[in-house]
Amino acid sequence: MKKLVVITGASSGIGRATAIKFSEAGHPVLLLARRLERLEELNLPNSMCRRVDVTDIESFKSAINEAEEKFGSVDCIVNNAGVMLLGNIQTQDPIEWKKMLDVNVLGVLNGIKCVLDSMIKRNEGTIVNISSIAGRKSFADHAAYCATKFGVHGLTETIREEIAPYNVRMTTIAPGVVETELLSHTTSDTIKGGYEDWKKTIEGGIFPEDIANAIFYAYSQPQTVCIREIVLAKTQQG
Ligand code: NDP
Repeated sequence: MKKLVVITGASSGIGRATAIKFSEAGHPVLLLARRLERLEELNLPNSMCRRVDVTDIESFKSAINEAEEKFGSVDCIVNNAGVMLLGNIQTQDPIEWKKMLDVNVLGVLNGIKCVLDSMIKRNEGTIVNISSIAGRKSFADHAAYCATKFGVHGLTETIREEIAPYNVRMTTIAPGVVETELLSHTTSDTIKGGYEDWKKTIEGGIFPEDIANAIFYAYSQPQTVCIREIVLAKTQQG
């Protein structure tokens, strides 16, 4: 059997498409998110679904231990779970900043922590962190979201260099606009409306399956080849 892959935020959008992609390629998959019923609906072969909030490292680790008992060591984790609460810096409730930092940054670090010791010991493994083009350039009303995604780029590059001697790979995937549930997290209707209008100018862009393909491409290289970063967006996106 192929090796175990863990996907966080597999209940919708990019994570869901990634789960299907790896499963179709024959991998056992551990699917994590808070909406367990959405994970179970996927009904993928050789899968384990667990309700895990990525900010809770204990339940994160225990789900991974359980899956490893059944399917063997984790060969790849896709730290995909994320939230986007767009807001104007002067008016946004700081609780929303904290929520994004907790999920988008600490959630990624938790995922790395849960698998890294074992990968280092085995001298193999791949960690894929989902950032964003908002981790490379600024956008209006994105201050805290951009901070989290610039953070993902920063932590990935730092840890990648630290773990390279152990033959463990780390990849950043930075998508542009993809049609998913992501915008629904934003609480300001005005900002949501503006974002929807902007999205219309690049409608029919890239899809969750395109991001899943990029993740799978990076993973499918020989262990000696590390794709450090993939930035992908609809051709017409600025
Ligand atoms: P979705 O909202 O469709 O998916 C987000 C996923 O994250 C859901 O499965 C959700 O599951 C999960 N999630 C959120 N919070 C938590 C949590 N605390 N613990 C566990 N899981 C959680 O959005 P996308 O698919 O678009 O987003 C996936 C990633 O891609 C995110 O990191 C996002 O920032 C990034 N991205 C998306 C872009 C886009 O345009 N869509 C562009 C660039 C990057 P549940 O609610 O069931 O827990």
